[in-house]
Formats: sequence, structure tokens, C-alpha cells
Amino acid sequence: MRWDNLTADPAGDRARDAALFGADAVTTRTFDSPEFRGITFHEIRARSIVNRVPGASRMPFEWTVNPYRGCTHACVYCFARKTHSYLDLDTGLDFDSQIVVKVNAPELLRRQLGSRRWQGEHIAMGTNVDCYQRAEGRYRLMPGIIAALRDHANPFSILTKGTLILRDLDLLKQASEVTDVGISVSVGFTDSQLWRTVEPGTPAPERRLDVVRTLTDHGIGCGVLMAPVIPFLGDSPAQLRATVRAIAASGATSVTPLVLHLRPGAREWFMAWLEHYHPYLVRRYERLYAEGAYAPKWYQRRITRQVHELAQEYGIGPTRAGMPRRIAAPSEPAEPVAPATPEPTQLTLL
Ligand code: SF4
Repeated sequence: MRWDNLTADPAGDRARDAALFGADAVTTRTFDSPEFRGITFHEIRARSIVNRVPGASRMPFEWTVNPYRGCTHACVYCFARKTHSYLDLDTGLDFDSQIVVKVNAPELLRRQLGSRRWQGEHIAMGTNVDCYQRAEGRYRLMPGIIAALRDHANPFSILTKGTLILRDLDLLKQASEVTDVGISVSVGFTDSQLWRTVEPGTPAPERRLDVVRTLTDHGIGCGVLMAPVIPFLGDSPAQLRATVRAIAASGATSVTPLVLHLRPGAREWFMAWLEHYHPYLVRRYERLYAEGAYAPKWYQRRITRQVHELAQEYGIGPTRAGMPRRIAAPSEPAEPVAPATPEPTQLTLL
């Protein structure tokens, strides 16, 4: 471990950082262990932890808790990249490697939940960055957060790509006995080549589906956010079928498709990635996203319809713990990945 706040004017730097991060104090650390090499953690004591979603009417939730900013899962398309620019950090590599950690999140949340003004509304987590990213393995903020929610019987939901959530299985079970707990895992595709380049810091899609399987086996229903469906790279009929089939085999209670969207901050980073790995697609993307951050409605509708039809075919729906699944896991290799088709999710939450 190294302390990095020993600069020529440490007090001045800390005051500036504290103002920038909206915190009372900032300590910057790096760790030498392989999984954290190249990553800098900015530990802050946040002043608040429950945030109201601006324009909440468009979202299915109004309150969020985000113990981290930045995400080592490093998904190239991540819509949250833009938020790093508010910290004077860049939306590319800095987003992947400069991680803000609200070390007092559990105690702050417990205090807020106990406040007379708090009405016990639903709290959504994992809606900005992943609360079960690798940093959580070291900082262990989620157990305290879930325990606070459990103790106040406060409903909540978690969206994640992190297999680390299974560490907190017992706490999740306890919470689900006293309040509504919704868990969703994000799996946009099962193509391993695509995964390695576009979601380089995440657990493999199969491991994420193992999470779904384990949660449902323990009586905690878990849906899959099939996001993002990536045009021309993850949207062929064969790819959609392979993904929905794998989701069904995991016992997911639902599948919700969302097409890639490219807001400023993510768009530049994604297009640079596309230029590097799939340069022949750059013009097609420019045309598909010519109107802004979203793919055209006709395209979104087509993907949604295809996924819903496949979900129906594979019988995705609620399963009870201990009951046999309706869909057997595929015993043969996934269908070959079709080449990009000639044709051509606002909330790529995760
Ligand atoms: S999409 Fe989700 S998991 Fe990926 S980098 Fe962004 S917050 Fe992390």
C-alpha cells in the first residue's frame, strides 16, 4: 500500500480534493496486489449518501445509494463515464482506475434511515456504478449497507455484474424476510470474445449467470437486465438466442433487453474502441446513432420483440427454490456467433 497525498502542499491538495469530491476528507491510496495494480482509490468521508434521482419521473426509482464512483469493471460503453468529468477526472482510463470510495457509507445510511424525515422509500443500488465491483472485496461497504436496510426493513434493489454479491447471500436472505429485495444481474450477451474486449474488468457472463442460479436456488428471485445489446456485434438472431437460452437456464425470473446507448463521455470512448477493434463498423455506428445517444426506435423495438419472443419460447418466468427448471442448460457449445448483420437502452445501467 502506498500513501499518495504527501505532496508539496498536502493540506492544500486535500482541501481542494475534499471540495471536489463533496467530502470532509480525502485520502488517496494504491495497493500492490495484482487485482488493484494501476488503480488509485480516493477514500472520502461523504456528507450524504442517499441521493434523489434528478428527473425521477423517467426512472422506476427515486432514491439511490452509490458507495463508489468510477468502476474497475471498465465497460467501454458505461454511461456513468460522464460523471467522472464532474470530479475533474477524465471519462476514459480515469473512470476505470480512479475510484472514489465513500468509506462512511454504511454509518451514514443507517443514520439517514433512522431519521424521522425518512419515509422508508425504495432505495436502488448499482444504478450509477457497480456496488459489487472489485473494490468492494477490499472495502466491504455493502454488508453494512444491507444490514442497515434490513434493520429498518427498508425495501431496496441491487443491479450488478459482480459475482461478489454472493458473499452477502445470508444478509440478502435476512433482508428479504423483512422487506422487498429486488436483485438483477446484467448480462447483455454471452459471446466471450466480445466480453473480453468490451467489458474487460467484469466476471464472465457465465459466472454472472451462476449468480442468478445461486440466488434463485436460495429463494431470492433474480432478473436479468440484458444490457447492452450491442448493434452489429451482439444482436444477430443466433447471439440473441444463445443469450436468452443461457439466461433461461440460469432460472432468471425475467429478462429485460436494453439496446446500447451512447451518451457523451461514453460515446467518445466507445467509438475509439470500435475504431480499434472493429473499424469497418464505424460508419454504420455513426449512421445508427446519428440522431443522438439512442439507436432508432425501430431498432430498439425489433430487439425487444425478438428477446420477448425468445423469452416466451424458453419459458422464462418465476421459479421456486428447489423446483426443477423448465429449461436445461445447453449441453452443447453455444451456437456459432454469426457475423455482424448488414442491418443495423437509455439506461445501460450496467
Ligand atoms: S456498466 Fe456497470 S459494471 Fe460496467 S463499468 Fe459501468 S458501472 Fe461498472
